[in-house]
Amino acid sequence: MSQFELNEEQCAIQEMAQDFARDKIAPFALEWDEKEHFPVDVMREAAALGMGGIYVRDDVGGTGLGRLDAALIFEALSAGCPAVSAFISIHNMASWMIDQFGTEEQRQKWLPQMMTMDFIASYCLTEPSAGSDAAALKTKAVRDGDDFVLNGAKQFISGAGTSDLYLVMARTGGDGAGGVSCFLVPKDAAGVSFGANEKKMGWKAQPTRTVVMEDARIPAANMIGEEGQGFKIAMMGLDGGRLNIGACSLGGAQSALDKAIGYMGERKAFGKSLAQFQGLQFKVADMETELTAARTLLYTAATKLDAKTHDATRWCAMAKRFATDTGFTVANEALQIHGGYGYLADYGIEKIVRDLRVHQILEGTNEIMRLIISRDLLKGDRA
Ligand SMILES: Cc1cc2nc3c(=O)[nH]c(=O)nc-3n(C[C@H](O)[C@H](O)[C@H](O)COP(=O)(O)OP(=O)(O)OC[C@H]3O[C@@H](n4cnc5c(N)ncnc54)[C@H](O)[C@@H]3O)c2cc1C
Repeated sequence: MSQFELNEEQCAIQEMAQDFARDKIAPFALEWDEKEHFPVDVMREAAALGMGGIYVRDDVGGTGLGRLDAALIFEALSAGCPAVSAFISIHNMASWMIDQFGTEEQRQKWLPQMMTMDFIASYCLTEPSAGSDAAALKTKAVRDGDDFVLNGAKQFISGAGTSDLYLVMARTGGDGAGGVSCFLVPKDAAGVSFGANEKKMGWKAQPTRTVVMEDARIPAANMIGEEGQGFKIAMMGLDGGRLNIGACSLGGAQSALDKAIGYMGERKAFGKSLAQFQGLQFKVADMETELTAARTLLYTAATKLDAKTHDATRWCAMAKRFATDTGFTVANEALQIHGGYGYLADYGIEKIVRDLRVHQILEGTNEIMRLIISRDLLKGDRA
C-alpha cells in the first residue's frame, strides 16, 4: 500500500503486522470463528510486539506511535481476522483514554499491565436504551465517602466477561453530555456481573456481553479525568477508534478482493477462466479503485488526528463511514465472484462479509457519521 508514500519506519511497522497476521492469526481465524474462541494468548503475543498500546506514551511501556501507524497495523491484522484486529483496537482506545486523561498515578498503576495485555480493557458507553443517543445514558455513579457506587447496565460490550478492566461512562450530574464522568471499573469489583455471550452474525472470535452494575463500589481514585468530562473523553477516544475500525474494514476487504482475483484465474465457465470476462475485470477494477480511495481518505484523516486539526473529528467520521461502507461492499462483491463457493465457510469469504457488516453499525452508526459531518458543514466549518 505504498500510494500514501509511507516512510521506511512505517513500511517496517506494516510488514511486522502483516507477518504476524499471516503466521499467528490467519491460519486459525476460521476455527476461532466457528468455535467462538477469543484468542487472548495471541493478542498478548501481538502486545509483546508493541500492539497493545500503539499510541500510548513509552514511559509506561506504550509504543508511542501515531494514528497512521495504528491504521497500518489494524489494516494488516484484519487481513488475518477483522474480529481479532478490532478487539485489539478497542483495547488500544481504552488504553489511550487512560494515558491521555488519567493522572500520573493512574497511568503508572494501570497502563504497564495493559500494554502487555495482561490486563485487557473494554469500552462501555452503550446502554439498552441509549445507543446512538449515547448522551442519554442512565447508568448512575453516586459518591459515597472515598468511593463511587455505580448502578446500571452497559449493552453490547466487546470483550465483556473476559476483560479485566471496563472504562464505564456513568452519570454523576444532570441530564446530557455534561453530566457524564468516566470510571475505571475492575472486573472483580463487588456488584459487577455479566450477561450471556450474545449470538451474533459476525465478530464471533470475540465475546459481546452486557455489563451489569448493581451497587458496584469502586474507589473515587478510579475516575478518569474530571467529573463531567466523561462524555468528551469517550468521544475523543472514538475519533481514533473510528479510524481503526475503518482500517479493519480495509484490511478485511483487501484480503477478500485478493482471494477473488486469485479465484478468477482458477475458475472456468463457458470454456474460459473467469478472469477473461470483461464484466468481472471491470468489477475488480472498481473494487480496487474504491478501496484505494477509502484508504487514502482514512490515512489523511489519521494524519489530521495526529496533527489535532480542528476538523479532525469530521475527517474521522468521513473516513469511518466511507471505509466501512466500501469495505463491506467490496467483500460482498468478492463473495459474488466466488459464486456458490463464496457462500461456503471453507473459502473464508463469508466470514469476512459477516465480520465487516457490524463496522457500519458500531463506534457510531454510519447514519451518525453523516450527522457529525453535516453538523460541521452546516455550521460553516469546512475549512
Ligand atoms: C457486535 C457489537 C459490538 C459492540 N461493542 C460495543 C462496545 O464495546 N462498547 C460500546 O459502548 N458499544 C458497543 N456496541 C454498540 C454500538 O456502538 C451500538 O449498537 C451503536 O452505537 C448503535 O446503537 P443502537 O444499537 O442502540 O442503535 P439505535 O441508536 O437504536 O439506532 C437504530 C437505527 O437508527 C438510526 N438512527 C439513530 N439516530 C439517528 C438519527 N439521529 N438520524 C438518523 N438515523 C438515526 C441508527 O443509525 C440505526 O440505524 C457494539 C455493538 C455491536 C453490534
